[in-house]
Amino acid sequence: MRAVVLGAGIAGLLAARVLTENYSEVVVVERDSLDDGWRRGVPQARHLHGLLDRGRTVLEELFPGFTAEVAARGATTAEALVGTRWYLGGARLAPTSTGLTSVMATRPLLEAVLRERVLALPEVRLHTGSVRGLIGDAHAVRGVRVSGDAESVSGGTELAADLVIDATGRGSRAPQYLADLGAPTPAEERLEVDLGYASALFPRTEGQLDNHSSVIVSTGPDGRGGGAIRVEGDRWHVTLAGMLGDHPPTDLPGFTAFAATLAAPDIHALVAGAEPLGEITPHRFRSPLRRRYERLRTVPAGFLVIGDALCSFNPLYAQGMAVAAQQALVLRGCLATAARRSPDPALPARFYAAASAVVDVAWRLSAGSDLANPGVRGQRTARTRLTNAYVARAHRAAHADPVVARAFLRVGNLVDPPAALLRPALARRILLPRSANGASEPTG
Ligand SMILES: Cc1cc2nc3c(=O)[nH]c(=O)nc-3n(C[C@H](O)[C@H](O)[C@H](O)COP(=O)(O)OP(=O)(O)OC[C@H]3O[C@@H](n4cnc5c(N)ncnc54)[C@H](O)[C@@H]3O)c2cc1C
Repeated sequence: MRAVVLGAGIAGLLAARVLTENYSEVVVVERDSLDDGWRRGVPQARHLHGLLDRGRTVLEELFPGFTAEVAARGATTAEALVGTRWYLGGARLAPTSTGLTSVMATRPLLEAVLRERVLALPEVRLHTGSVRGLIGDAHAVRGVRVSGDAESVSGGTELAADLVIDATGRGSRAPQYLADLGAPTPAEERLEVDLGYASALFPRTEGQLDNHSSVIVSTGPDGRGGGAIRVEGDRWHVTLAGMLGDHPPTDLPGFTAFAATLAAPDIHALVAGAEPLGEITPHRFRSPLRRRYERLRTVPAGFLVIGDALCSFNPLYAQGMAVAAQQALVLRGCLATAARRSPDPALPARFYAAASAVVDVAWRLSAGSDLANPGVRGQRTARTRLTNAYVARAHRAAHADPVVARAFLRVGNLVDPPAALLRPALARRILLPRSANGASEPTG
């Protein structure tokens, strides 16, 4: 039995790992030549990539020892709120133990460790080439057409497969490929945020940030924010961000001046007077994009879409890799119960239903936060307004109350469900913060 995974980004690598439990051969098709540096196919890799704790624990489950391995290769690990100075609404969250571990590394390092682990699996092989389309019909996909040196060449290069998984990221052409087969295509949901990033690496010196390993300044009402994390090579990876077209400049004086406007001074203190190690790189992200495959009445058997190709989140909330990891676990669960015949026609609907449940949680959290900015156009239901009013109070309470800060961070890391913030004992601390004043926790 052969599975083919399109794309060797984070989602593709995780899917490949899971597929080895059910398929004797897993071919990963990637158009980039893969080395440990920045590569063309993932331009976002030049920007700060925070790994939420939910993502980290899934990676540990699939690749035991993952955290220790990236740390051994130079990543910094820290208790999430103790090692990080986290500013929200202009004030710092109360530092406290959260039970969450932050892994601070560049995206190329995270990806290199995963890739080495996956390509070492005996079932997996890499095919360097670009995907050109699907083979099959509206009822079943039977393989892919790819460029590059595959086995059977007959009017194009073809790779037969029992299951094809598209993990080619946000720019996925799966809707077009499905249309070419005469199959229905998914509706798309977007939220216009017109987010701009500018990022660079800076040298680190001992004692900066009081030896904290990162600082996050969440976007405030002006839509500006940023982060700096201590990555391998003892460097700061600094990203500045601005929403709704207010994008950070990529010249050093402009970059530094933008940093000075953030709601906390820490990032400016790191970059003022410092020389970046290389260029300041921009990235424009117009809109989160969710493709509603779960709403299609029919999808061909033998074909699934995963990762950013399914849902590309606003990067401000660092959800993409963690949700891709959760989807890999969903895939594992679905394959464990799939019918032995190939392809199982019930698999896509089962996978998309379960995947949309994990996507939903993250999508609601991030879209809700985006809609808190009055400049973002979108439908604000009564529920959205109520939730945002409550979350704003939770933010304020979290500045003084470590119990609220801890709860807030655990939800944001996709470890606890959003409903955790509504538990009566916590709701009291959020809505009546004075009653919590005497009940602080030890701080870190
Ligand atoms: C600016 C920015 C910052 C981000 N920051 C964070 C963050 O802090 N934390 C976080 O968790 N997530 C972050 N993300 C999201 C994160 O990058 C993705 O969610 C995550 O990498 C999963 O993506 P993926 O594997 O589905 O797609 P990608 O990482 O985009 O990988 C797709 C792969 O498919 C390959 N490919 C594409 N087309 C073809 C083709 N036709 N043929 C062959 N191969 C092809 C590409 O070369 C690439 O290797 C950020 C995103 C952006 C844009």
